[in-house]
Amino acid sequence: MNIARDIAERPGATTAPSSQMIDPFGRAITYLRISVTDRCDFRCVYCMAEDMTFLPKRDLLTLEELDRLATAFVDKGVKKLRLTGGEPLVRRNIMHLIRSLSRHLGTGALEELTITTNGSQLERFASELADCGVKRINVSLDTLDEVKFKAITRWGDLAKVMAGIRAAQKAGIKIKLNAVALKGFNDGEIPEMLRWAHGEGMDLTLIETMPLGEIDGDRTDQYLPLSAVRAGLSERFTLADIPYKTGGPARYVEVEETGGRLGFITPLTHNFCESCNRVRLTCTGTLYMCLGQEDAADLRTPLRASESNELLSNAIDEAIGRKPKGHDFIIDRETRKPAVSRHMSVTGG
Ligand code: SAM
Ligand code: SF4
Repeated sequence: MNIARDIAERPGATTAPSSQMIDPFGRAITYLRISVTDRCDFRCVYCMAEDMTFLPKRDLLTLEELDRLATAFVDKGVKKLRLTGGEPLVRRNIMHLIRSLSRHLGTGALEELTITTNGSQLERFASELADCGVKRINVSLDTLDEVKFKAITRWGDLAKVMAGIRAAQKAGIKIKLNAVALKGFNDGEIPEMLRWAHGEGMDLTLIETMPLGEIDGDRTDQYLPLSAVRAGLSERFTLADIPYKTGGPARYVEVEETGGRLGFITPLTHNFCESCNRVRLTCTGTLYMCLGQEDAADLRTPLRASESNELLSNAIDEAIGRKPKGHDFIIDRETRKPAVSRHMSVTGG
């Protein structure tokens, strides 16, 4: 039984054409995130252990296969594609894939093609990204302090990221900064980051740490609820809730003093699953229907089994038909085990 199609075709369903992917809870899947590599040139402490074992290169889908998979999703109603990782810009020849995928912007099938990056390689790629129709990107930045930046990323260089941000802005790309809120690390710095980001015309989104993958430290020490951050900021800034949405799970406020937007992504203190419109594909062709659940579908086998897309399309429908209602993240003081064993760099943030 194909639940997704069944629901889509039910008389009176409030859904769009049957070419769209509709999950069992009536949510249209219009957003695909692809982790194009699990590798990275940083080792952020909340994301990776310092000594990571990465996938053997032979297990990765080729760029052509990633293109075919992404295109199958676009044909089935995906309007927004985000490349992430690991660090997407360290995958060899990544611009070939981005340039190729940009054809779907040209036809109007795709509304947005974008990336989430640590910014380390952005100076090199900014103008080419803009040329491929990339209009806005997310750059992850947890601190403005060079020494702290080195400490949190282990291998990163803040000056390079800043040069990347400037290059992207010069190329006309809008930037949203993502910062993971970490207790005792950047909590005191958030007002300064907010003023700086807004002063430079960038939105800022704060993210709570999520219990994904084994890391070297203890996450219960890092966890900082954004409800507490917001309460602290409210003493210094006037925050007004606004209905602004970027197709993601962030809730936004406008900061009266700076005139900029501040987003909160709160997977642990607020359940954002009701409006989930996304699925995630790994660089080996595994589709995760939820960031916070282990269930996944193998798309590599149907992709490689035939040159036509029929098997693949059926496998996608079957997977969407299993998309769960939501996650149940918990940072557990008793077991101290991650809720999900894979790292964020596998499924992409
Ligand atoms: N390397 C790119 C980057 O850092 O932007 C893309 C991949 S990274 C996994 C995507 C986002 O996930 C980053 O903003 C990062 O801070 C965030 N992230 C990684 N591990 C996380 C965790 N355990 N909890 C919350 N956010 C996490
Ligand atoms: Fe790399 Fe991004 Fe993970 Fe940092 S958060 S280690 S930059 S994948």
